[in-house]
Amino acid sequence: MTVRYFVPQFPSSGGQVTLPDAESHHAATVMRVREGDQVTLFDGEGNEADAKVVSVHRKAVICDAAPKTFLPRRNQATIVLAVAMPKGDRSRDLVERLTELGVDRLVPIHCQRSPWEISDGAIQKWQRVMIEACKQCRRNQIMQIAQPCRVADFLEQPLADNEQRWFAHPGGRKVDPAVDSADDSPTYRIAIGPEGGFTDQEAEIAMASGWLPVGLGERICRIETAAIILSVKAAAI
Ligand code: SAH
Repeated sequence: MTVRYFVPQFPSSGGQVTLPDAESHHAATVMRVREGDQVTLFDGEGNEADAKVVSVHRKAVICDAAPKTFLPRRNQATIVLAVAMPKGDRSRDLVERLTELGVDRLVPIHCQRSPWEISDGAIQKWQRVMIEACKQCRRNQIMQIAQPCRVADFLEQPLADNEQRWFAHPGGRKVDPAVDSADDSPTYRIAIGPEGGFTDQEAEIAMASGWLPVGLGERICRIETAAIILSVKAAAI
């Protein structure tokens, strides 16, 4: 397995590239790279490049990179997923899974029944988890993690062309993108509620804004399970 490092904005033509501080530290002290080792660099915008390590210091690992190749490893569909994020390690695991599943944008939402306020610290932690997951799963285009917003603001955003809106709500209808979508590269906007569920008022806002209430069968799932099921459906994996 080739070891991957995240280097935002390195030159398309390649050449000498110094890994950012944290990546240099990781490469030198955890992965113990040596001069001559082969690595892969990715820029988070969909590009990667083969590279060879040319010098190793604890705070600066320098590589000689080949020209970039555009290889985003995206899904056909664009997936924007809004989630009333669960607390602690549960959200960490969820960010990892969603990165692997190719969700393009994660929007943490505050709902009437959300049990906690999402802090800047939580967002920063999820960013780091997401980058680590990109390294592991060979994703070259990062998952955008939006600033938290109120669920009503997310639900009321204007509907774009080729967009399908799924609002996960027990008792809603079953969706099958293979049957329901006529488009080759649709955009799915998906909303997953908190453990207490969406309130009637939130459900009314969704319905009035063109969202389809989607059901996931007779059992009630955890937030993470609902988010993963609908991401897999949208990704058509
Ligand atoms: N206590 C709530 C369920 C909350 S589960 C109730 O009984 O209604 C957390 C979130 O996961 C829900 O808001 C919903 O968005 C999603 N979810 C879980 N199970 C689901 C199901 N069977 N159908 C549709 N959405 C579901």
